[in-house]
Amino acid sequence: MTDWVSELRRELAAIRAAGLHRELRKIEAQADGRLRWGGRELYNFASNDYLGLAHHPAVIEAAARAAREWGGGAGASRLICGSLAVHHELEEALAAFKGVEAALAFSSGHAAAVGGIPALVGPGDVVILDKLAHACLVDGARLSGARLRVFAHNDLDELRDLLRWAAQRRSADASPSDRPPRTLIVTESVFSMDGDQAPLRELVELKDQFGAWLWLDEAHAVGLYGERRRGVAEAQGLAERIEVQMGTLGKALGSAGGYLGGARELVDLLVNRARSFIFSTAPPPAAAAAARAGLRVVESSTGAELAGQLWRRVANVRDLAAAAGWRLPQPAGAILPLTVGDERQCVECAERLRAAGVFVPAIRFPAVPRGAARLRLTVTAASRDDDVEALRHALATLPARGDRPTPP
Ligand SMILES: *Cc1c(COP(=O)(O)O)cnc(C)c1O
Repeated sequence: MTDWVSELRRELAAIRAAGLHRELRKIEAQADGRLRWGGRELYNFASNDYLGLAHHPAVIEAAARAAREWGGGAGASRLICGSLAVHHELEEALAAFKGVEAALAFSSGHAAAVGGIPALVGPGDVVILDKLAHACLVDGARLSGARLRVFAHNDLDELRDLLRWAAQRRSADASPSDRPPRTLIVTESVFSMDGDQAPLRELVELKDQFGAWLWLDEAHAVGLYGERRRGVAEAQGLAERIEVQMGTLGKALGSAGGYLGGARELVDLLVNRARSFIFSTAPPPAAAAAARAGLRVVESSTGAELAGQLWRRVANVRDLAAAAGWRLPQPAGAILPLTVGDERQCVECAERLRAAGVFVPAIRFPAVPRGAARLRLTVTAASRDDDVEALRHALATLPARGDRPTPP
């Protein structure tokens, strides 16, 4: 026993030595763009609750009502006796919102990816991933047993080469299974750590040209982009050409869970094949009802106002970060990466910001490549003028960097 623990201790020491150690922070309270930590109130520039819906009265009330009606838990997996009306109502609402035939809810976005990708591809198939795709997409691709290929972030030339290679392979190989081999491209519309966007139109054209399928994760786009806030696919008029639309219910929708949407046959197949769906207790009724209520808000005029408020805030924060000398990806979204580089320096910057009353997390390897540590600043509709002012002051306390003018 002691040997076992000392071995773990050695491993933890190595993580610490690399400046990569993490620990959980106990947040004592959070609401309205603020959080309390260690007895101090901090401005929250770390949340993915982009529209502030986790604290919207309609979302809270829906969760409470569903808990009273259905209980604290679903009691079983969906295929046993957990497929409750609240789950079906959520899925119908999701399908209508996304403009797809059907949608299937999972207990998290992570579960949707690790269950969904292996349901669609397997040994003999090919998955092609953007280098910056979220860890759950990488995990799902690995689990599938399909051959994995990675293209440099948003590099369409490299993607085209990989698609050509996959197509040649496909025609050369006698398929071991009773169906033709598949090629699945997996990417995000808005990238989780950089906030930049995929070149969606070109991706759609390429996958059509080579007979591949596209899996698009809109975790950071739903609720924010498009006239009806369905995501980047809607904003660019491409939704109908995408085979699998993925999202999470835990970000702009203010609840918890994930979903996959597309053709009715996609959902039917997932129900039969996605192991994270089949072998897992159905999402809590309160979470499903909260997500449904969050969707209603997003679709309403309040949703439009909140999104408008968010984008005005993003513009404020982008301008003040640029004025403080930070280079941001264009076009900047609600995720603003302030790239520091060195892991320890990045942690130090986050500590300084906290000392100045602002909470922004330091993101390090393995969430981002080594030496690319950054402060990942997210803007939400819940932040107020005061919060943005506090952020301006906090950023001014950071040490000047080589590529940054010294503040006056
Ligand atoms: C957060 C996130 C997920 C995972 O969703 P959860 O519901 O939090 O499990 C998937 N993809 C991307 C791009 C994400 O940012």
